Amino acid sequence: MGKKNFNIMLREHGLKVTDARLAILSVLDAVHGPMSTEEIHRALKKTPVDIVSVYRNLEAFLGAGMVREIDLRRGSSCYEMAHNHHHHIVCVKCGVIEKFDGCIVEGALTGILSKSKKFKSVSDHSFELFGLCKKCSTL
Ligand SMILES: [Zn+2]
Ligand SMILES: [Zn+2]
Ligand SMILES: [Zn+2]
Repeated sequence: MGKKNFNIMLREHGLKVTDARLAILSVLDAVHGPMSTEEIHRALKKTPVDIVSVYRNLEAFLGAGMVREIDLRRGSSCYEMAHNHHHHIVCVKCGVIEKFDGCIVEGALTGILSKSKKFKSVSDHSFELFGLCKKCSTL
């Protein structure tokens, strides 16, 4: 996605366009995988953004639904662009991540909600699988 599209994307989500925001979005878009705040901060070489601003802008993106927060059990959250919905399998030994397209959660929601005593609707979900990759399985 080009810089111009990030401009439009920010405005569509009611966010002000700033250089820091454009830089963070282009990093997230280029990587195609979940990144921690520290990783994003480190990747912002061309447009240095202090870590507090990275945190704040990620919060703004989350609130606007532009990015998703993903828990890979690394102790800190990871972030990814929200368009193109998918989930991940994570190796608990070496941390390698594979994404898988398609969502098994959405199809199960009606059934889950019909059995739920307390919930009427679900607006968001995260779903990550953890296991051993082929390499770590042979060690
Ligand atoms: Zn992903
Ligand atoms: Zn592994
Ligand atoms: Zn899903």
